[in-house]
Amino acid sequence: MLTGAGSDRKVVPMAPRREARATELQIQIDDVYACLGQCAGCVLTPEERKTMSADMSEETLDLAIERLREHAATSGPLKRVNLTFGIADHLLIGVDYMRHIHALGSSVIEAGNPSDRAHSAVFFTTSLVGKPQSVIAMLRETRSRLESDVPFIPLVVLDGRLIKAAKFGPMWREMVLAAKELFGKVDLSTNLSTDAVGCMSPEELATFAARNGFDEVTVNWAPTMRNASGTLGDTAAIAKWLLEFDQLAEKRHSLTTSFRPVIARTIDSIMCGDGHAPSLVNAVEQIVPETIRKSIEIDHLGYLLPKFEAIGDITHADRHGLAPLGNIRDGSIASIIDKAMPRILSKIIGIHAQGACSTCRHSAVCAGTGFHVATHVARRSGRSQVFAEESCPHVAFPVIDRIAAEMMAVEATAERGTLWAAC
Ligand code: SF4
Repeated sequence: MLTGAGSDRKVVPMAPRREARATELQIQIDDVYACLGQCAGCVLTPEERKTMSADMSEETLDLAIERLREHAATSGPLKRVNLTFGIADHLLIGVDYMRHIHALGSSVIEAGNPSDRAHSAVFFTTSLVGKPQSVIAMLRETRSRLESDVPFIPLVVLDGRLIKAAKFGPMWREMVLAAKELFGKVDLSTNLSTDAVGCMSPEELATFAARNGFDEVTVNWAPTMRNASGTLGDTAAIAKWLLEFDQLAEKRHSLTTSFRPVIARTIDSIMCGDGHAPSLVNAVEQIVPETIRKSIEIDHLGYLLPKFEAIGDITHADRHGLAPLGNIRDGSIASIIDKAMPRILSKIIGIHAQGACSTCRHSAVCAGTGFHVATHVARRSGRSQVFAEESCPHVAFPVIDRIAAEMMAVEATAERGTLWAAC
């Protein structure tokens, strides 16, 4: 599997404060599940990955594009529109298909008329698995047949267990550098699991990314009902890994994480003027509706899913034990979202009103991101029973706690500076 249920692809960092109306539209279409990889933290099942053709029918893809064009055209004004074709290896489907999805994706971006065209792109997931000569030849042919100048950016997913394989490194480097030269940019994504954090240290991933010319690294942690034993098996180890990776990224300007900006932005946007965090209900009502309008995913059957950001992207889908917003056959995307909104908000509030979350000091921040999906999976799969009732069921608390503490320390220093200057 190549990406979580949709990774946070941003061609440029988002503004630090969440705007009342988000100016970026993020879309993912889950059209391909075929993959030769076996990442333990994959949201796809082994059976899903076995296919060798696109999973989304032509009719569903056409309808998805029609609905998305309409949604993009009516969501403005937009600064950026980014559309990812996920979840697995599009190179396995062939050059004709790649050319086709680029043309379709470009039409959605055109419809959104984003002001920042240079940072609006169509992404496609791939594992870059295969003989370097044939993979590079396919990439070259794809690039030469693109019909519009909308960027087409490979999102390459790395199985953490392969990072130390002697043969794998040089072969990958050759393919990654060729892809970078052809498409101008390559993003790296990896799926976290107990296995992956045991095989690949944060330092090793950072070094691998730098050595192989990746511009961005997105870490996905996406528990599903099927992968719960791998993703929720040792959450203490995964949290430790994330905190170390975050610290590395803070030190190295060449490395960014997607989860720190998401959590920092959420803290920033929900803090009241008096410095106190708002209630859980207020935070959800303030943040989630706009997130859902500007961040959506459509699965291979046409189900419309809200795409949240926690550690990478995560959705409300059957595989996470949660109901979708609706199906694109039901009507326009805006009408499906409006109808489903009260149900989604009350689901998120309900998940945070139970167990350790009900008394957690970070519940409002947590609810403004997508951590509730992992909480739901932990409870439904029985994984939360291995934790004490008063403990966070997964990685959210330590990660939010660290980022919140650092933000408060910076704020306190700034306040001291202001007082000192006023003396
Ligand atoms: S940080 Fe953990 S305990 Fe707190 S609300 Fe989130 S999931 Fe629940």
